[in-house]
Amino acid sequence: MPRRNSPATAVVHAADLDGHSVSYRLTRHVGQRRIRMWATPDGLRVTAPRRASGAQIERALRANSRWLRQQIDDWAPAPVPSDGDTIPLGDARLVVRLVGSGRSGLDRAAGVVRLPEGLEGAGRLAALERIYRREARSVFGALCARHGAALGAQPARVRITDPRSRWGSCSSTGTVSLSWRLAMAPSIVASSLCAHEVVHLLVPNHSRAFRDHLERLVPEVAACEAWLSWHGRALLRGPLAAAAAPSLPAAAPADRQPISRSL
Ligand SMILES: [Zn+2]
Repeated sequence: MPRRNSPATAVVHAADLDGHSVSYRLTRHVGQRRIRMWATPDGLRVTAPRRASGAQIERALRANSRWLRQQIDDWAPAPVPSDGDTIPLGDARLVVRLVGSGRSGLDRAAGVVRLPEGLEGAGRLAALERIYRREARSVFGALCARHGAALGAQPARVRITDPRSRWGSCSSTGTVSLSWRLAMAPSIVASSLCAHEVVHLLVPNHSRAFRDHLERLVPEVAACEAWLSWHGRALLRGPLAAAAAPSLPAAAPADRQPISRSL
């Protein structure tokens, strides 16, 4: 009689990845043929064939150590800006000021973001996210309208979202979705993403016709895509990390691999 497949139980192990001890939850599955690994907000997960040895799993982890550590970094909590820190808003750099009371707010003329000092940690990041989302709604909406006018096709709706796997998307019903995190990127990068999604209203794929439209709308699109490949990860790591990313044009740092995210 075949053995019943009991639910797999995750066991916590530790591996040495480039001198860093990283714990991971391992689950073994009957019938699985390859070792799989990915990072989650709760840490590193690994699934393996039932008979894979510990040494085989460690070898697989070490072979992917650089990629895995980048993945783990992406999910780590974003560093929290303190009073006096600089954070980006498009091409501007704003100084964070913690104030005694009142609401969070943006003072563009003074180049300052004010946050109540009682807001700490995740609360402070959430207040900043609300500011970025407000900015994204207004700026990206206008950018999509401008590119749409040049193209002769307007989105039915522009949504501000936060998918971690893509910067933007365009639905078959004409809704353009864009990540609020692009409000931390140089304005030309955000503009190129808005143009990218608006061109999808006319051309659903990435064909030559698509590129022709896109390059006409944003001649710097190749440099913008390169910036996102090299520095997009900083946008996932929050405003402080994004502040360290260079403005355009920038050379790609030699010691990092570009991330791939679909557009
Ligand atoms: Zn696309």
